[in-house]
Amino acid sequence: MEFTIQSVCVPTRDGYDWVDVQIQQGRITAIAPHLPPLGTLINGHHKLLLPGFVNAHTHSPEMWQRGLIAPLPLELWLAELYDFTPLAPEKIYWSALGTAVETLLSGGTTVVDHLILIPGQEMETIAAAVRAYREVGIRAFVGPLLHDQDFITSLPTGGQSRSPVPNLRSADETIALAKAAIEQFHDPAAGIHIMVAPTGPQLCSDESLAGLAALRDRYDVCLHTHLLETRGQHLLFTEKYGCSAVAHLQRLNFLGETTSLAHCVWLDDADIEMLAATRSTVVHNPLSNLRLGSGIAPVLKYRAAGVNVAFGCDGSASNDSQDLLEAIKLGSILHNVTDLEYRHWITPRQAVTMAALGGAKGLGLQAVTGTLAVGQWADLVLYDLENLSLLPRTDPIGQLVLGRPTQAVHSVWVQGDRVVADGTVTTIHLDTLRAALLDHSEWHAQRTSTTLPQFQTYYRQAMGLAAD
Ligand SMILES: [Zn+2]
Repeated sequence: MEFTIQSVCVPTRDGYDWVDVQIQQGRITAIAPHLPPLGTLINGHHKLLLPGFVNAHTHSPEMWQRGLIAPLPLELWLAELYDFTPLAPEKIYWSALGTAVETLLSGGTTVVDHLILIPGQEMETIAAAVRAYREVGIRAFVGPLLHDQDFITSLPTGGQSRSPVPNLRSADETIALAKAAIEQFHDPAAGIHIMVAPTGPQLCSDESLAGLAALRDRYDVCLHTHLLETRGQHLLFTEKYGCSAVAHLQRLNFLGETTSLAHCVWLDDADIEMLAATRSTVVHNPLSNLRLGSGIAPVLKYRAAGVNVAFGCDGSASNDSQDLLEAIKLGSILHNVTDLEYRHWITPRQAVTMAALGGAKGLGLQAVTGTLAVGQWADLVLYDLENLSLLPRTDPIGQLVLGRPTQAVHSVWVQGDRVVADGTVTTIHLDTLRAALLDHSEWHAQRTSTTLPQFQTYYRQAMGLAAD
């Protein structure tokens, strides 16, 4: 399909320009005023065109538990989350579809799904998510969430004695699962990328982490993991390895240009230098870091050190939405309270660049997506500046980032395919999605987790909290 978006507002270095933008064979082929009309004509009057953002970290199956889990720190929140995680591939399909739709309708053209797997149905889980992403037409990086150690080993001991716990699976089995996922589903030409995505160094043996990292070179895939999200993880690493988790990952050859690391809240200056030197990407998930009390990631320090930063929504049970614009807003203004030097604060334009180009860099795609330039893939989002939430006319990007845009996405193209038109996803039936989400869920006033109380006493002691 070919498109000409006419007289559309695009950002320039210092301001805005009004141009025509042409899309042919999946790419941007021309950007200039008054181009000869080609293909489908789109009226760009009072509309803003930006490169698509990357929702650089989420867990789609969490959608089934959004708004449900009580205010708890990550470690206890996880105990409850896993008690109720969906066990049917069909539900995985619908929540992936929902995650994709919300990402598209908040400015994203790529999603990174650190996918929680159904035990014993790992390939079926991946197949269900991949099917959803193919149908809706979003570019998807699916990273099956893999670890070989039991959950209890991810908690610091705080000096308590702990009897050894058997591993969940062997390192070889863990690596074999990642390999099978790549061989079966990795299809970049169709917009489906499998990533190698251990849950986090706190839940993986050295053998499995090193083996998983080695798959990057063998298959040319991206690496992704959680990193130092909580104070508890920071304590665990000091206790277990006598070094930071970053140094540990560096030793296992996990860091690098196509490695993206979710959270990175508890890093010190030496860690930050290591991320800069290895050109690894930090994925900033401000909403879940607040929701779970994890802390504020030192994002201004990352930027000062030259570390690439992207934005993620994180899963819908710790956010509890998939509104990328909300994550970008909070993820930029949050840092105004951490640094008195206001000249380092993140501007709306910088935030937009982090969300698009920063996201693309973390996935090794900066040569083809993340900027509005001829030759780039047409991963584009058109915002309706006549939408009430973006009026009156001031600075379009300022309005988009600092305001609260409501249903402001008019159209979305993913590699030249128009998957949203006039504010509606064109590739799937939203009514069917809505009905499926209703049919597979129920209202909960309260529910009882069995694992949470088991961990609570241990966690409170390890973290120095008063005993019950
Ligand atoms: Zn996460």
